[in-house]
Amino acid sequence: MRLSQYFLPLLRENPSEAQIVSHRLMLRAGMIRQSSAGIYSWLPMGFRVLKRVEQIVREEQDRSGAQEILMPTIQPAELWKESGRYEDYGKEMLRIRDRHEREMLYGPTNEEQVTTIVRDAIKSYRDLPKNLYHIQWKFRDEVRPRFGVMRGREFLMKDNYSFDLDAKAAKQSYNKMFVAYLRTFARMGLKAIPMRADTGPIGGELSHEFQILADTGESEVYCDRRWLETDILAAAEGLDYDSDLEPFFRHWTSLYAATDEMHKPESCPIPPEELVSARGIEVGHIFYFGTKYSQPLGAVVAGPDGAEVPLEMGSYGIGVSRLVGALIEANHDDSGIIWPESVAPFRLGLINLRPADDKCRVAADDLYAKLRNAGLEVLYDDRDDSPGAKFAAMDLVGLPDQLIIGPRGLAAGNIEWKHRRDGARQDLPLDTAVGRFAA
Ligand code: ATP
Ligand code: MG
Repeated sequence: MRLSQYFLPLLRENPSEAQIVSHRLMLRAGMIRQSSAGIYSWLPMGFRVLKRVEQIVREEQDRSGAQEILMPTIQPAELWKESGRYEDYGKEMLRIRDRHEREMLYGPTNEEQVTTIVRDAIKSYRDLPKNLYHIQWKFRDEVRPRFGVMRGREFLMKDNYSFDLDAKAAKQSYNKMFVAYLRTFARMGLKAIPMRADTGPIGGELSHEFQILADTGESEVYCDRRWLETDILAAAEGLDYDSDLEPFFRHWTSLYAATDEMHKPESCPIPPEELVSARGIEVGHIFYFGTKYSQPLGAVVAGPDGAEVPLEMGSYGIGVSRLVGALIEANHDDSGIIWPESVAPFRLGLINLRPADDKCRVAADDLYAKLRNAGLEVLYDDRDDSPGAKFAAMDLVGLPDQLIIGPRGLAAGNIEWKHRRDGARQDLPLDTAVGRFAA
């Protein structure tokens, strides 16, 4: 993409409404714009990252055996009256009336909706297990929307729902999601610690939140000091989803980790000197809640002996749009964002320092074409601007590597290569540049 043609409204100044670094940088790097409190438009640069995050989430869901569907954002109120949650959900739920005065709502989550779909389609235990997911916008009228996309009112979530015949099978489904979540966050280069969590308004028996430790996190979390040195990034590699995942689950929950609601100092199993208290950003949450929805909604199947049994269910969420902010909280410096390669909006930045110079322009245009032909996504700064402004813009948007073409280097057949994360710069012969980055 040529920067001269790209819609990238960068801001020089820090916007005063942004209290945390990710919100500031998303506004400054032209990724989002606010529409109203907690509701944002995603501009081209931000939307690219959102799509990449979504795609990693999708691939790991698919790998685990979950199947993608798409349910609506607008749901009928009757569904929620049937499950008994319509009143309970309170002011967080955006309630709407259509032209026929029918009560509708903008979905904050989809347990009811998916349970009725499965109830009406599945009649026998032979059709189990099933695990359905979708990636869809949610609305929750949060009391205090803040921190940009981290606590929005409208936000993108991956949510899925597992259906099993009995508790043992349901636990295996829970464990699969536990593994899928570890894999998902690892692929984004994030260390998300699974913590025992409260089941809250979803209800149920077993629950883990995946928390990224960060000073700007909204919740207080507690964990064994050893979590800080634990490398969870490679944890789930090569694991077979069809094997019994209980030993894996036991291992990765053996070190203490709990959210505020679950942490009781008096009954904490580890001594205070081994306990870390920190702030956490919740990027995912998994629940096992048994028959909480299948009972009231009548989602039953015929079991092996012919008797009807209510489905055992779990639900599992990942904050896809929140992750974009969380990734920036975990990856930035004073100059701007530092995208991990797996979610970067473009793989490379290409800067032409002297567009008015014919040799520079021809070389930069040519390299841009070759990099693209090699399948690389490149943001090409071909604008007529000062070198300082170009360096600052490229650092701000945070692409993993930058290639810089200027008259001096070019005379010797070289370009400059700057690695954004460590700032290391080195000369690179122009004719090796494509080979260096092409897969
Ligand atoms: P929180 O405790 O942060 O309010 P929650 O427990 O209500 O979240 P869940 O119902 O578990 O949220 O939703 C699944 C995921 O969706 C959360 O782990 C989080 O990453 C994301 N999420 C929830 N609420 C918001 C929000 N208001 N804005 C952005 N992402 C959100
Ligand atoms: Mg939660």
